[in-house]
Amino acid sequence: MKIHEYQARQLLSDAGIPVPPGSMVETVDDAVAETERILSSGVSLVVVKAQVHAGGRGKAGFVKLVKTSEEAREAATFMLGNRMISNQTGPEGIEVKRLLVAAGVDIEKEFYLAVTLDRGRGVNTLIASSEGGVEIETVAEENPDAILKTPIDPLAGLEAFQARDIATQLGFTGRQIGQAASVMQRLAKLYGELDASLVEINPLVLTSPTEDAPEGRVMAIDAKFGFDDNALFRHKNLQEMHDPAEDNPAEARAEAAGLSYVDLDGNIGCLVNGAGLAMSTMDIVKLHGGDPANFLDVGGSATRESVTEAFRIILGDDRVKGVLVNIFGGIMKCDTIAGAIIEAAKEVGFEVPLVVRLEGTNVDAARRMLEDARNEIPTMRTATDLADAARTVCTAVG
Ligand code: GDP
Ligand code: MN
Repeated sequence: MKIHEYQARQLLSDAGIPVPPGSMVETVDDAVAETERILSSGVSLVVVKAQVHAGGRGKAGFVKLVKTSEEAREAATFMLGNRMISNQTGPEGIEVKRLLVAAGVDIEKEFYLAVTLDRGRGVNTLIASSEGGVEIETVAEENPDAILKTPIDPLAGLEAFQARDIATQLGFTGRQIGQAASVMQRLAKLYGELDASLVEINPLVLTSPTEDAPEGRVMAIDAKFGFDDNALFRHKNLQEMHDPAEDNPAEARAEAAGLSYVDLDGNIGCLVNGAGLAMSTMDIVKLHGGDPANFLDVGGSATRESVTEAFRIILGDDRVKGVLVNIFGGIMKCDTIAGAIIEAAKEVGFEVPLVVRLEGTNVDAARRMLEDARNEIPTMRTATDLADAARTVCTAVG
């Protein structure tokens, strides 16, 4: 699960990491009122930011610095009235329903800071870079030496000496070192406490010197958090932050039907039972030059109704140019799947090629059912084995 920036900023702030004050609003008038409130508190710069589960907002024009309530009105009207298209959204973009209006800061320098699991090394890792603000993927490609990776000891956490060393390597000096090191240690601790999969601050900024803070201040001005869904049951506060408007609609429908479904970018819809078989089905589709449109494990206890729902979800995706059904019947019975195929054919219709490979429990009954229904499913082809099925569906979609 992901959360919005304004929610992540709250979590950072609760953990003692400095974040400029701000509020989430849902209307243009509230954005203007919040801007006026911030301006009247003596701050001369305000930032209006779209709250969506996608980055690249700055370049897309969905992060705007404003100095007056008129400018805030203009920015909020634009953001709430247009879909945001960035390099992290599809070409159709996403609707913006919430904005963050926050105190802006004068920036001396931008840094990158994150904690995630390094699967290769099998350890939680702090990732830091003095090339912040821009996308870290670009830095990783063009200037990999600018990225510092530090393993976090599972018992000791990120230790003070490690954090101070990283801060120094990033170029912080004097009092800044202690501030940056404290942010790093608190972030590493938060990552563990929240069962996060990613906590990212980009940018972490050093603000320009002022009379109060002649060396500047180290602050987080953007944050992205991801959580392990399997641990959400023990974080009620995080569950409450879930925004269903940001969910992929197909994934939400699948979840309601008890199916494990992940939307992908390809054009071959896959319906499989068992996560391992689903993985290998995707691999073999790829091997034959195809591209899966989804990962779908209907599981062992799916009913005809839930499998029919799975077909509705797959066929409702107009990128799907072919469907591959690969069932190894164990607990899941092949005739349940056959029944759902026939049901889906009646209800939605398979306009695209359908390739079916069934083996295992009740396979003979299933084959007879499909044979009897052949006239109703003219695009159906049966396959003898998995390789044959993958080849057939890849050829069919071209
Ligand atoms: P993202 O593009 O979705 O990652 O949105 P960010 O919140 O990271 O903002 C993008 C960029 O806008 C930052 O890298 C900054 O350069 C700039 N920015 C955001 N907030 C402020 C601010 O308060 N003051 C200044 N001067 N620039 C800001
Ligand atoms: Mn950012």
